Amino acid sequence: MRIYNTMTRRKEEFEPLVAGQVSMYVCGPTVYNYIHIGNARTFISFDVIRRYLIASGYDVRFISNITDVDDKIINRANEEGRTAAEVASEYTAAFEKAMADVGVMPPTVRPKATEEIGSMIDVIARLIEKGHAYPVDGDVYFKVRSFPSYGKLSGRQPDDMRAGARIEVDERKDDPLDFALWKAAKPGEPAWDSPWGKGRPGWHIECSCMSEKYLGMPFDIHGGGADLIFPHHENEIAQAEACFDETFARIWMHGGMLLIDKEKMSKSLNNFLLLKDVLEQVDYRVLRLLMLQTHYRSPLDYSRERIDDAATSFERLRSTIRNAQWAIDNVDISCESDVEEYVSAEALEERIAQTQTEFKASMDDDFNTAGALGSIFSLIGSVNTFLMHGLSNDADVAAARHAVETVTGFMGTLGIDFADDDKSYPAELVDLARELLGSDADTPEQAVDLLLAGRAEARATKDWGTADAIRDGLSGLGFVIEDTASGARVHYEG
Ligand code: AMP
Ligand code: ZN
Repeated sequence: MRIYNTMTRRKEEFEPLVAGQVSMYVCGPTVYNYIHIGNARTFISFDVIRRYLIASGYDVRFISNITDVDDKIINRANEEGRTAAEVASEYTAAFEKAMADVGVMPPTVRPKATEEIGSMIDVIARLIEKGHAYPVDGDVYFKVRSFPSYGKLSGRQPDDMRAGARIEVDERKDDPLDFALWKAAKPGEPAWDSPWGKGRPGWHIECSCMSEKYLGMPFDIHGGGADLIFPHHENEIAQAEACFDETFARIWMHGGMLLIDKEKMSKSLNNFLLLKDVLEQVDYRVLRLLMLQTHYRSPLDYSRERIDDAATSFERLRSTIRNAQWAIDNVDISCESDVEEYVSAEALEERIAQTQTEFKASMDDDFNTAGALGSIFSLIGSVNTFLMHGLSNDADVAAARHAVETVTGFMGTLGIDFADDDKSYPAELVDLARELLGSDADTPEQAVDLLLAGRAEARATKDWGTADAIRDGLSGLGFVIEDTASGARVHYEG
């Protein structure tokens, strides 16, 4: 497996520190608002990376924090006449729900900044003791010049930064590049006791502390969006390495930005779409598919058209899985087909083996999900051709089953789950069966079976009124009925 390391600017062969185990830290959100789909992209990218590492046999310890004390949270609390803790707790819960809704696995530990103040104070005190930090009027600053390799991740040199950057001049800092480790409390702000007086931590220190505390140093992979490389990750490295005299993270992975109209989606540009609003209209699997069609390091242009294209691809995938499942379940019914094209069970098995090789090769190449999806969709094409002739023997059934398992297994590694699909049949089906047939079904699935049986019976007795009413009722609820020589076939299009 090869992974691109931002630190060395090349793909490297991946060897975890401890064989069979991967330690990973991904910067989490600042909880002052609902997250937008740009934030979601980064979390989905790292979820897929984690899932693929697990699928490859690694035991993955995955830490991701919640920044629950910060200027933005305090500002919002003041605007709304609430406490910062109330604002943070509301949006922490919203974030956790959003992650579950979009299929992101919960981290092994999700530390909160406000619950880790003690370890941050210890690290800051040690940095002062070692000459890497200094207190001024209740604030504490990191002395950038005391850490000679500052800039190694972003490739920026401190001298260049000073020349070009618009850094606000603060008389109390030794150097304009120095950044806050601890901020003295202003009236009305959340504050904790410290050796430097009441205050709160700066933003960067929490990630250095939590990584060291929950993973130890060095650990394998540190991730986040590319916008965090400078200054956040550069500062995390300086704090942790200056304090512990040890390499911080071995591999730095950064996700590309999600763009809208060619600009980075962000709260400050006010060009954002909230994840929760998008999910009201779009199945999470369509959103994931759209995101994974682009390599995680590349920028991703988001648009309504691209969502529509992803929805079409997703339906193709879903209907193939359903049709294969239907064919497996109804194998005693032989289908007639005059289609010329033909894929034998043996040929399908070969295509499955080839897809397995390709999927692994793509994902082992720095998590190339776009390539992996290309192989899956090409297999889907073969499955569709294979199914046209129906399943006529055990080898056909075994090949169909193998294809379904392969496709759903790979999609599961990408966090796109088909297991609950049938459960999403609309509840109105039960009412429809009662209304048209007077039958009481326990579940929507049972209602579909009753309705199809009722329709077949009505057709047999030439009761066209009932047959048509059932067909119309089903199509009104998103079912497409195809009458084949062997009986009715339904697809649920949703
Ligand atoms: P924040 O709460 O702003 O610290 O962002 C949380 C995560 O979302 C970080 O890893 C950011 O790098 C990431 N992020 C922010 N904006 C975007 C974007 N437009 N595209 C991709 N990731 C983003
Ligand atoms: Zn961080």
